[in-house]
Order: sequence, then structure tokens, then C-alpha cells
Amino acid sequence: MSKEEVGVTRFSKKESSSRIGRIPTPTGYAGLGDINSYLIFPEQAGDELILIDTGICSDDAWQALNDGLAELDLRVEDIDRILLTHGHTDHYGQAQRIHELSNCQLWAHENLWLTNERMRPPPERKELELYYYALWGVDRALADKAISRRAKIADRYHAMEPDHLLKDNEIVAIPGFDLKTIHTPGHCPDEVVYWQEDTQVFFSGDHLLPNITPVCLTQMPREKGGVRPRALSEYQASLAKVSPYPALVTYPSHGAPITDHLALIESYGLSTDRRLLKISRILEAGGPMTPMAVGKELFPKAWEEQIVPVMSEIIGHCDLLEDAGHLVERENKGVIEYHYRSTPAPR
Ligand SMILES: [Zn+2]
Ligand SMILES: [Zn+2]
Repeated sequence: MSKEEVGVTRFSKKESSSRIGRIPTPTGYAGLGDINSYLIFPEQAGDELILIDTGICSDDAWQALNDGLAELDLRVEDIDRILLTHGHTDHYGQAQRIHELSNCQLWAHENLWLTNERMRPPPERKELELYYYALWGVDRALADKAISRRAKIADRYHAMEPDHLLKDNEIVAIPGFDLKTIHTPGHCPDEVVYWQEDTQVFFSGDHLLPNITPVCLTQMPREKGGVRPRALSEYQASLAKVSPYPALVTYPSHGAPITDHLALIESYGLSTDRRLLKISRILEAGGPMTPMAVGKELFPKAWEEQIVPVMSEIIGHCDLLEDAGHLVERENKGVIEYHYRSTPAPR
């Protein structure tokens, strides 16, 4: 099957040769731009209309979704099932609103609750979060700001309960267009990629993105002293998991279709290596250092406004350095410090 036949260039009109439509809607986040929702058109009249990801909960996104559907002679009411790639607000935010009009089902990975809980932790969890921020060397004002910013985002949408929880390798049966669920944790714990075997396409969510390297958000342990999932290490394993698939086209949630996912994964590897080297040199020159101190050096402009992604980048890469024996992590008076051991060899 050629790339044209699977609808790379034809998103705006329904084509008999293509089962896929794309509706971009604005996220309102500077630097992120639109999120792509994908439609799977029914094989025959009466079959289900499926929407992969919903867009963020905003009037602009709602309008864009309605306009995109109208262009295809469809309405929100026609949607039978939503499949989520993961539970971030730009993918999940409009689910409830769509459901209210269409009575559609919502299917998502069984770890969706973890992402929901991160957005809306129980009130008693705040102390634990402050403990971990302090452990990373983040001052109290910055930690409070991050927590209240997240609460504001969570207030904007309703976390609709899924009708079905997907497991790794589960097949989503769609007439003539079955999708295989590939669990790809890293960016978040419930991230999945959907694989369509006959047309050899991926719907990659935020796991594979053409213009930005996905941030692997650090997950705090759910209790003091608990095990922290190593998000970036999990992400590396998830990249290895999707690599062997012979994808002709990968449809990402942000940006244009990807025609060579292996080249993209290779480019992620190179930028990871560059970052590991930079952090290692920072530690060699100035260590021992807290995650926050490394973050201030590596992201002198971003750390103040984007503490969560900055901490995620530092902690994730330091996990990789620690696993390879290039640094040692020690706790000193309630704060983590990274101690330089050696510099990773360039590839
Ligand atoms: Zn995401
Ligand atoms: Zn996203």
C-alpha cells in the first residue's frame, strides 16, 4: 500500500481509499499549537464512527471540532466511540462534552487513573508533593506555583469515566480496521500507540512527535519513600517496543504525519546523548548538585516558569546517567545531590 492510499495528504475530504480523517483543534498552549484528533470512518453505513483523542476543553477547540466534522458532513452526535492515546487534557478534555451530545463510549488504557490522579491528587497528598519538591531542591514558592497551576488546568475539564479499559496488546475490533493497542509508558503512564496492521499505520499520540521531543513527566511516588517510576527509562523501552513495526505512516497528536519513525527515534537518541553529556559536564564542573541546581544551569530561561518539565528532564536524564554508572545520587539533609563519576562516551 502506498503512502498516498492511506491518506497522508488527504485529510480534509473523505476519500473512498482512506479510512482516516484529521481534525486539528487549538490547545491554546504557546509552543504546542494544535492537537490532531483522528477519525476512523465506518467501513459501511451503520458501522461506528470513531474519534481518536478529543482536543482540550475550550470554546475554541469545541468550535474547531464542530467545524472539522461539518466539513466532512458529520456532527458530534455521530461519534460512537472515543479512543484515547492518553489522559492529558489536550487529548481528553472534551470527552465529557462529546459524550453529552453523542452518548459515545470512551475507551482508554487501564492506567488512565494514574494520569487523572496526578492532575487531581487527594488533598492530603499536597504535603507529600511538597516533600518531593523539597527533596529535588525546588523552593516552596515555586512548588506552590506548580501545584496551583495544575489545579487550574484540572478545574477546566471533567475526567469522564471510561467504558472500557484497554490492556497492552489488546485488539480494538473495528470492521476492516482493527487497531492493536501498544502500551508505551514514558511520556505518561497511560500512553498508548495504536497500530493498524493492514494499512501499516501508527496513531502515536505524544509518544512520537515530529517537531518536539516528548517530555517524560516525572511521577512522584504515591507514598513517602515509595518507588519513583523512571519515566525516561520507561520511554526508552517504549521506543524500542514500537521500532520493529513496519510503519508506512505515523499519525502524531501534534504536527504533520511522520514517514520514517526509525529516523525520528534515532534523532531522539542523539538529542538524549547530547543532553546526557551536557549534564555530566555541569556536574563535573560544579557538583555535587541538586536536581534544581542542574535545572537552573541547563535551562536558565525556562526553569522558573516550567518547573515540572524542567525537573522531569533533569531527573530522567540523571536516572540514565546513574544506571550507566556516570553519577551517584545521595540524599543529604533532605535534599538529593548528584555526584559526578564519569563522562558518557560520545556515540
Ligand atoms: Zn501528552
Ligand atoms: Zn499532547
